[in-house]
Amino acid sequence: MTHPNPFLSPQEEQEIVNAIVEAEKNTSGEVRVHIERKSNKAPFERAQEVFYTLEMQHTKNRNAVLFYVGTEDHSFVILGDQGINEVVEDDFWDSTKDLVISHFKNQNYKQGLIEGILKAGQKLKNFFPYEPDTDTDELPNEISKG
Ligand code: CA
Ligand code: CA
Repeated sequence: MTHPNPFLSPQEEQEIVNAIVEAEKNTSGEVRVHIERKSNKAPFERAQEVFYTLEMQHTKNRNAVLFYVGTEDHSFVILGDQGINEVVEDDFWDSTKDLVISHFKNQNYKQGLIEGILKAGQKLKNFFPYEPDTDTDELPNEISKG
């Protein structure tokens, strides 16, 4: 009983990409989603590794955010770059993470990610407003898969 993509259907993945595009209209921050089955590393450590592998540290304002999901590990991490951590409180991502996990618990993976991504865009808006004249899409909006 194998399914090619038990976590998200292609349609759901597209909706998540659309949410990233939407979130990035609120902020100069860049959002990426990485989904893999599992890792033998601790979730936070693995998220940091993915962050650097995806070269997310190369944004101009150091304001990229990674949503890391380990589907078999049931792990979920939101990791922001140092430009964000320098200006926000330590628990900045907690409410966003709680929102996502509340949906994951009900197997609403798509909904959890979409709401979390949009909320991240809203939260980043105050610190890193969208700059319509100069904005570029610094990081791809496609979901990264491990
Ligand atoms: Ca951008
Ligand atoms: Ca982007």
